[in-house]
Amino acid sequence: MTTAETETGVLAGEQRMLIDGELQLTSGGATFDVLHPASEQVAGQASDGTIEDMARAIGAARRAFVTTDWSRDLDFRYHCLTQLAQALERNKERLRRILITEVGCPVAVTGSQIESPIAEVTHWAEHGKNFDYLIDNGVHDTPLGPARRKIHYEPVGVVGAITPWNVPLYLNIAETVPALMAGNTVVLKPAQLTPWSGSEYGRIVADETDIPAGVFNVVTSNANDVGAALSADPRVDMITFTGSTATGRAILAAGAATVKKTLLELGGKSAHIVLDDADFNAALPMAAMMACVMSGQSCILPSRILLPRSRYDEGIEILKTTMENFPVGDPWTPGTMQGPQISETQRQKVLGLIRSGLDAGARLITGGGIPPDLPVGYYTQPTLLADVDPDSLIAQEEIFGPVLTVTGYDTDDDAVAIANNTIYGLSGEVSSADVDRAFAIACRMRTGNVTINGKSHFGIGSPFGGTKQSGLGYRNGDEGYKEYLETKTIGMPE
Ligand code: ADP
Repeated sequence: MTTAETETGVLAGEQRMLIDGELQLTSGGATFDVLHPASEQVAGQASDGTIEDMARAIGAARRAFVTTDWSRDLDFRYHCLTQLAQALERNKERLRRILITEVGCPVAVTGSQIESPIAEVTHWAEHGKNFDYLIDNGVHDTPLGPARRKIHYEPVGVVGAITPWNVPLYLNIAETVPALMAGNTVVLKPAQLTPWSGSEYGRIVADETDIPAGVFNVVTSNANDVGAALSADPRVDMITFTGSTATGRAILAAGAATVKKTLLELGGKSAHIVLDDADFNAALPMAAMMACVMSGQSCILPSRILLPRSRYDEGIEILKTTMENFPVGDPWTPGTMQGPQISETQRQKVLGLIRSGLDAGARLITGGGIPPDLPVGYYTQPTLLADVDPDSLIAQEEIFGPVLTVTGYDTDDDAVAIANNTIYGLSGEVSSADVDRAFAIACRMRTGNVTINGKSHFGIGSPFGGTKQSGLGYRNGDEGYKEYLETKTIGMPE
């Protein structure tokens, strides 16, 4: 193992994949490099799994679903997932260092990526234990006489989980733990840029839990084809995916031949409607901070700020001040709130979109490039663009960088129309001194989720999903658990 442990805390993760209960390298031993985005240095390697590895993992998951008691033994699943929560807790600091190493996420903001997902394992174990899997639907009249109907919730089967790189451990847990607790078997395919948050999870399952061989598998790979093979395989009953809308479309198409159940959480282009009576000093510094934390690499980020023309300049000044003072730098330094973008490719995409915005007539208020004091690492300046045309590319495409666009509006109706003017429908935000007015606007936004006056919609107890091209189905809440269950109705004598 090429574990690189340095004074900055960089730590390489597990190289081996987990297939059918065995931690293993791919048969030819091929690996690919994992870079630390803050230093641009190779931090270590991950196994470059192949389509054959993926086929073996799917075969193992299928066999485990059909031949073991996993799908029927709720108490055992509860036992295993309780063990998993404890094992993750024991490995917490190692997982945190690996997360910072592969994502470049500032140590100060790792709580939502380490502590939260570990707590979610316990949540799903309890939720699944207390879930009512058999409901008496009462007696119904039929032409052949009365029939009692019972509704039985059953696991879907083999679930393929394909995850992105922005919050890798959190999403690896969010996509697989409710699926496992519901009685499915799982094949996880982590993103290329963050393989270790997946392979470490596999190692912990193999070494520190009683989860049987084949029930949970992890295949890392540097090739998109390996994820594509998972989404097309007829032995897979369901795909759960978080990532770009383009990849979501490919996954939906690949699953069409076998009418695969598909849960998609895709891109967003969320708007924050700041109404003319809002407390700007409360709403806007927070809006600017949210754009920069995680380097803007968040799907629910309200990246389009809509300001009333009557208070336009005032709003821009507040956003500018916060962005210009935001602590950008080394993710290992405790005071840092914004680290690098995850890769040079991502940074160039962000810089390219900023350029396209300026070409389309936007006004640069602050930022726009690489911080001069941070020449090494994939850093991007917090960037504010004003006078952004709502039809321009930068107002339509997800940026995934520390960038806010500002567009002015005249009436509340105009603001709603601009907010709804994209293919996406993930989240939104409204700020107003009048909560009823804000609520009425929130109901008109064509999105799956809305935050009013900074009160977050997001959390494990409430359903989360996107409308339009932002997704299909829900995570979190009871809706999120039921996604991993089929609903069977059984008619029977009274
Ligand atoms: P990004 O473009 O931000 O890297 P993607 O949506 O492309 O995000 O990737 C998210 C996940 O989807 C990764 O695990 C990646 O390997 C996987 N992936 C990419 N292309 C495909 C595909 N055609 N089919 C299935 N999975 C894919």
